Amino acid sequence: MSEFDLINRFFKQKFPTRKDVILGIGDDAALCTAPAGMQLVMAMDTLVEGVHFPIDTKPEDIAYKALAVNLSDLAAMGATPAWMTLALTCPKVDESWLARFSQGLLDLATAADISLIGGDTTRGSLTITIQVTGFVELALLRSAAKVGDGIYVTGTLGDAGLGLAAVEKRIKLAPEMQNYAESRLNKPTARLKESQNLIGIANACIDVSDGLVADLNHILTASKVGASLNVETLPLSKALQSINRATALELALTAGDDYELCFTMPDHKKLSIAATRIGTIEEQLGLRCGKAFSGKISGYQHF
Ligand code: ADP
Ligand code: MG
Repeated sequence: MSEFDLINRFFKQKFPTRKDVILGIGDDAALCTAPAGMQLVMAMDTLVEGVHFPIDTKPEDIAYKALAVNLSDLAAMGATPAWMTLALTCPKVDESWLARFSQGLLDLATAADISLIGGDTTRGSLTITIQVTGFVELALLRSAAKVGDGIYVTGTLGDAGLGLAAVEKRIKLAPEMQNYAESRLNKPTARLKESQNLIGIANACIDVSDGLVADLNHILTASKVGASLNVETLPLSKALQSINRATALELALTAGDDYELCFTMPDHKKLSIAATRIGTIEEQLGLRCGKAFSGKISGYQHF
């Protein structure tokens, strides 16, 4: 199969297009119409086999995650997704792998109404880069947290880290807990709807990709404020509650890949989505976690 047949069969024919895509896959570049009065929001994330997902991960899950982590960045900005490009590097043309990969991508792309408008295909170690573009009228930023804001998170924390620990056999879980934790690792949910409901409500927002402490610290640094966390209030799933509490808290505070939103909001605003209050923004710089947790608190760092 030639490179063009591959692109045509797995990426061009399958994907739905949008009205604002004038020219998608097939020319040297894509042409799209930007909506009047909106800002374009762009993000890109790369997944490398063995670094961002375990080597045996299903192709449909790899594709799903590669898009989900990008959609999560758009969600963190309060943006609505529109277009994406895909740079796919794979060691060989494996048709059944490609069919499953493109199906996983299609499933989430359809759900998020995002068009695949182009990309690049190369041979090498399995690496997936997706670039997404979305629209926003007024973006949610990391730099807008205010002293007195409550700190909130959507969903539960530490589940993807628990899933990874289970896959790597560092932690033993009951089968249904293991299924749950692995699905949170492989198929994270980008909180797009939730973030739409935070516009005009939240001051600052970030998605938790590197771990709560690391990502909350990004908000604190950008906003030039500090915070206290109430570790007792961290939302933990049943799966995380089933393990040793100190390990559970360490995962909830420091493990990455959950893709929940962490945001700050003043007390007088009314929250219309499900989220848990976990702390308060304070004037005193730094992040205080109280005595309940004294473990290591740093996020995942590549270098
Ligand atoms: P060029 O040589 O002009 O860079 P390519 O041969 O790389 O063009 O790609 C041909 C067309 O196919 C382009 O429109 C490009 O955006 C698209 N394309 C290539 N690889 C992918 C991919 N993995 N997914 C989606 N579109 C792709
Ligand atoms: Mg090219």
